[in-house]
Amino acid sequence: MTPPKHIAVIGAGIAGLSCATSLQTAGFRVSVFEKSRGPAGRMSTRRGDDWQCDHGAQYFTARHPDFRNQLASWRDAGAVESWTPRICVFGGKATAPSQGAIERFVGVPRMTAPAHLLAAALAVTANTPISKLERLDSGWCLKSANGEKLDFSFNAVLMALPAPQVIPLLPESAPQLSALAQRARMRGCWALMLRYDAPVDLPFDAAFVNDGPLRWIARDNSKPGRVRRETWLLHANAEWSEAHLEEDGESVATKLLEAFGQLGGPIPQKWSIHRWRFADTEPVLNDVCAWDPGLGLGLCGDWLNGGKVEGAWLSGHALAKRVAQSIHTH
Ligand code: FAD
Repeated sequence: MTPPKHIAVIGAGIAGLSCATSLQTAGFRVSVFEKSRGPAGRMSTRRGDDWQCDHGAQYFTARHPDFRNQLASWRDAGAVESWTPRICVFGGKATAPSQGAIERFVGVPRMTAPAHLLAAALAVTANTPISKLERLDSGWCLKSANGEKLDFSFNAVLMALPAPQVIPLLPESAPQLSALAQRARMRGCWALMLRYDAPVDLPFDAAFVNDGPLRWIARDNSKPGRVRRETWLLHANAEWSEAHLEEDGESVATKLLEAFGQLGGPIPQKWSIHRWRFADTEPVLNDVCAWDPGLGLGLCGDWLNGGKVEGAWLSGHALAKRVAQSIHTH
């Protein structure tokens, strides 16, 4: 019997993992390559000896029936729970309760949990940044940044990466995919993680902020299943982050702590800072995914479908369907 067709997925964020899972279920052989130490991408958690903090995606929604099915299996596995923080909105000087009855979900015991669950059933090679794609007679060949050739015969290569990281990998033979990726402008975000020795006495667990440098505040340990250590997360807004992207972390932290202080936040005992270069997309594209059957190249990711966790998962799922419709598994 002929072996199944072999598909490479570059990027083990939620889009790449969703795509790889669907293709594997459909009967393909799938290899996922990830540049970082582990999966999850921007659904990430920083961890120390006695603390942890989700410093990328804060929570996610689940509206589409396919994603709700996925959510149900994550919940059954104990990898996701709903989060019902006391939420506040700061706009000008007034504080008011956040409007709307949005159901918010988080990974348990940390935001990376759903990605780890998906990755456990897949062949994921970590610490492997892909730097080049070459088309050979036998199929696509991938090269890692250290020059290693990973395989010579992929039937298709699917890139589940932020748009700016897709562009340098696309070959000249793919001008349409390249033009699509160039349409998405991704913006940075500064994330400041604060640690306290004692509980912080504020009347909210999370807040949207409409003035000054901050956009979002969250008491990370108010999420279900977290370690006890009092940990708060501050996200700067996109405009402020972009304007201060090249500033040093110490000076950014000082400004964000000052803004938190004006909302009643105390000085932490310790802090850590992270700069996301590609946090969100403006404007967000609504193409869902892109697939060139002639070349055997595809793109998926949040930037193609709404810019959030749910959109990223759906984008990967949709790309897998399109690939399965145009390539036989054997
Ligand atoms: P990513 O998660 O970025 O995955 C891409 C993967 O590709 C990464 O693991 C990366 O390491 C890897 N990679 C990159 N280049 C290479 C290469 N050359 N070779 C191999 N691997 C490579 N969404 C929400 O729904 N709710 C929120 O509250 C929310 N808040 C957010 C706050 C911040 C600060 C950030 C940064 C994001 C937030 N998001 C939120 C967005 C959400 O995190 C993303 O939409 C989603 O995680 C994107 O998934 P993805 O798989 O498309 O991309």
